[in-house]
Amino acid sequence: MQKLQGIAVSPGVAVGEALVMDNEGFRIPRRFVARDAVEHELERLEAAISAAGCEIERNREAVFRELGEQYAAVFSAHLQMLRDPALRQELESMIRERHYSPEYAVSRALRRYAKVFQTVESAYLAERASDVIDIEKRLLRNLLGRRREELAHLISPVIVLAHNLTPSETANLNRTFVRGFATEIGGPGSHTAIVAEGLEIPAVVGTGAFLTDVSGGDLVIIDGDHGLVILQPDEETVAHYRYEAEQNKSRAVQLEALRELPAETADKVRIELLGNIEFPHEVQHCLERGADGIGLYRTEFLYLGAECEPDEDVHFQAYSNVIQEIQGRPVVIRSCDLGADKVAFDAEAARNPTLGLRSIRLSLKNLPLFRVQLRAVLRASSLGDVRLMFPLIATLLELRQAKMVLADVMDDLDEEGVAFNRRLPVGMMVEVPSAVLMIDHFVDEVDFLSIGTNDLTQYALAADRSNKDVAGLYSSADPAVLRLIRMAIDAANQKNVPVNVCGQMSGNPLYAMLLLGLGLRRFSVTPSAIPEIKKICRTVTIDQCRQVAQRALTLENSRDIKSYLRDELHKILPELVA
Ligand code: PEP
Ligand code: MG
Repeated sequence: MQKLQGIAVSPGVAVGEALVMDNEGFRIPRRFVARDAVEHELERLEAAISAAGCEIERNREAVFRELGEQYAAVFSAHLQMLRDPALRQELESMIRERHYSPEYAVSRALRRYAKVFQTVESAYLAERASDVIDIEKRLLRNLLGRRREELAHLISPVIVLAHNLTPSETANLNRTFVRGFATEIGGPGSHTAIVAEGLEIPAVVGTGAFLTDVSGGDLVIIDGDHGLVILQPDEETVAHYRYEAEQNKSRAVQLEALRELPAETADKVRIELLGNIEFPHEVQHCLERGADGIGLYRTEFLYLGAECEPDEDVHFQAYSNVIQEIQGRPVVIRSCDLGADKVAFDAEAARNPTLGLRSIRLSLKNLPLFRVQLRAVLRASSLGDVRLMFPLIATLLELRQAKMVLADVMDDLDEEGVAFNRRLPVGMMVEVPSAVLMIDHFVDEVDFLSIGTNDLTQYALAADRSNKDVAGLYSSADPAVLRLIRMAIDAANQKNVPVNVCGQMSGNPLYAMLLLGLGLRRFSVTPSAIPEIKKICRTVTIDQCRQVAQRALTLENSRDIKSYLRDELHKILPELVA
């Protein structure tokens, strides 16, 4: 058994068989073979080794002809490893004595070799690890042949283990079969993490390298509450986690009882609890939890995996579906936040994409793209309670430009006689520190604000939200971030401008009392977080929360603040403290 500590990004527990996604995505379909099939399986292994040997020889000859012996030597080394009698003996005994399938034996043995190479302190030997992995892949390709299974064609439940998953790969995971995932890289605020939460799949990212320690088919546990990945767990651990999963289920059932009740504090202050969505089908997840509406619709996900750029009708259709399903409740449509780690849109690969042509900057620079979306939003505004929000506003000029484009598109629609809501509420995300510093001006020019703590944290602390190496610094509980949030909420409340927090922070039970105490009355959260946040709201008084916020703001660092907030949450609802 091996335990890896990563970053918990999507809660819940999953126990199942590993599907190891290296760049070729092999999956070992069976771990064991029947006793009477051993001889046949040994023959299969023999055939695979000999076929792989022929392939390597062909490659060696081709490279030798073109480039000479020096370059062909690498293939000679591969051949030597492949035909090493010690390897052959080890594989044979795994199949004969432990009844491993040849695929599983190959994967286990070669990954163990690769691991040894990786751990020795020699750059030359460390590089040999990739040669070993190369041989493993070649043998697996020969063994699995057409039976190779891919992520797109799963037929049984798996836990996906990968070096990295992009937001679009994550969005396309098959929820019926993918029970959880873990990646070697990735940070707490990455969009991969956000999509995982939206899909309600337990997930851990940023574990560091571990793929050489695991083979497809191995038993794995993903503990998305504590950020743990457990490889080849013992029986006791499996039993513990199966119990934990049952507990989670029964807690969720208990919270379901809150569905029809309002999010109202014990002293009768009504709190608006909205859902964040990436895809129209998630409206259902919001309604199941009794959301008051959609506080953030991340429309850039329309571009994920799309073969061509979505046109006005594609946008309109998606918005209409959301509006229809949400049955009269408000929907905040955010204009596309393309770029950075979501959907690459920058023709020139930016060296620093989060500071580059992203989000509203990209929309303002690519007006045809922006106008297409605005036309669709406006058309949809005649169907329900639609509100429009601009992301990543950093300057007043940007906001004004965006509003001018909107006014222009409205004039076009008027001329064409197309129906829309001329009084469409227009708001902005507060997620760049400059916007907070100028918030007293912004509140005069918008109908509402939404604080995006995911980006606000990254820009305030200069800590990439997707980078595990700075995950310790990237914390929305940092006192500097809390001051920014307080400034934005105060300015909005003074002018009676509705303000919301839609970053991941607002869905984390740890911060609910703090945010209520800072004067927040609207939360927009991942749908699965709605019941817990509602439970907290219904347990506390505003006065109690104010005291918590006041005390938290006197503390000097994120660790102390989190530990204080954990203690306070433990006092009122211990079951919500992970
Ligand atoms: C945020 O930055 O907090 C936010 C909600 O936007 P996104 O996560 O989509 O960047
Ligand atoms: Mg953001």
